This record gives sequence, C-alpha cells and structure tokens, in this order.
Amino acid sequence: MNILVLVSETFKNMSDVEQAVKTVNGLGTAFKLSAVGLPSLTHVDNKTWIRPPEIVEKIRNTYEKIVPTFVIVENRLKEDMFSVYKPSLYIFTTTDWKKYSPSLTTYLIYMFACGLPSVACGLPERSSDSLDNHPDIGCISDYCGDKSNIMYSMMIGDICPHCRDLFANNGLEAHYLDSTEKLLNYVKKEMIPYRQRIKQIAPAERVNDFETTGRSNLV
Ligand SMILES: [Zn+2]
Repeated sequence: MNILVLVSETFKNMSDVEQAVKTVNGLGTAFKLSAVGLPSLTHVDNKTWIRPPEIVEKIRNTYEKIVPTFVIVENRLKEDMFSVYKPSLYIFTTTDWKKYSPSLTTYLIYMFACGLPSVACGLPERSSDSLDNHPDIGCISDYCGDKSNIMYSMMIGDICPHCRDLFANNGLEAHYLDSTEKLLNYVKKEMIPYRQRIKQIAPAERVNDFETTGRSNLV
C-alpha cells in the first residue's frame, strides 16, 4: 500500500524524515512510504500553534482524493497534541523531539507505526474516538500526554486486543497489522539502551510487569 508523507517545503529535519522513510521501506513491510514537500504546508507550519483543520483544508485543496497520508509538522499542534487523526490522514508534530533521546528517526518510525493501521483502513472518526478512551498501556493508541509516556509506549510497542479488534472490524487486513508490528519491533530494539532511564520515569507496576513478561498486562 502506498502511503504519502507530507511535510512543508522548508521542513528543517528533512534528512531525518528521509532516513525514517528509507528504514520503513527497507523493512519489507506491506507499506511503501514516499516523502513529499508540499508548498502550501509551509505557511501553516510557520505558525507557533497549528490548527489541524487548516492542514486538512490544504490537503483537500491539493488532492482530489485523500489517500492514506501522514502530515509531519515541526511546530506545535493546537492543544499541544502530539498527533491528530482525521480519516486517512494522520498529522503529527516533531516539536522539541530532537532534544530527547532516542533519535528523531526512531520517533518518526514509531509515529508511522501508530498511524499506519488507522490510515490504511481509513478508520472512521467515530471509531477513532473510541481509541481516545485508552489508558497508557504501551499500545500504539495510548493517549501519550507527554514525552515520557511516548518513550514508554515506544519501549513496550504493543497493539492491544481492543485495538486489534477495532482495526479488524473496520476492514484492516491482518498483514497490515503484521507489517506495523515489524516497525514496532524495530523501534523496541532501538529503545533498549534507554530502558534504564524509562524505568525511572514509568510507574513501578508497569516496569515490574515489563521485566517479568516483556510486555504490559494492564490491557
Ligand atoms: Zn490499544
């Protein structure tokens, strides 16, 4: 499945995006990503706070039909969200991530894994809203209110049974979830050097569980 990755034409960390796209395409999954610089996103991404509806409007004005698409922005999304999903369109920000470990490339690959099942099946917004009532359990649909939570989810890299059912009920074929897991496994390996630090910031019960089973059972 071809997936479009859109950035503004003045996107500063383009080499990280290109590296992430190359890595994903090299992992032999069912997804083929292509990164494109879109002139109309430049003005939007220059704003301190970006309104996601404005991005959706730009994409609709550019493309007749919205294919499975990621939009990566460098400034903050309104309400300080990390990501916003609109059917077939997954918008996320890289704001400040360069200051954190692991690399921006690993973060990008993780965010691709988070959005791919939804964009691949064109998950309706109603179903996507039900993912929002999700506690942070290390699943790709975790709410992830801050960077430490994202790092925890990157370390666990799970797709919980609730989300598996939801994607399957919305027509996502199993091999797309297998492909997503390939990306998650790649990210999990990249996270190994950071486990010690994440253990210090994650609640103890999660860490204990992770140590004994290798995955969260708080599902
Ligand atoms: Zn889940």
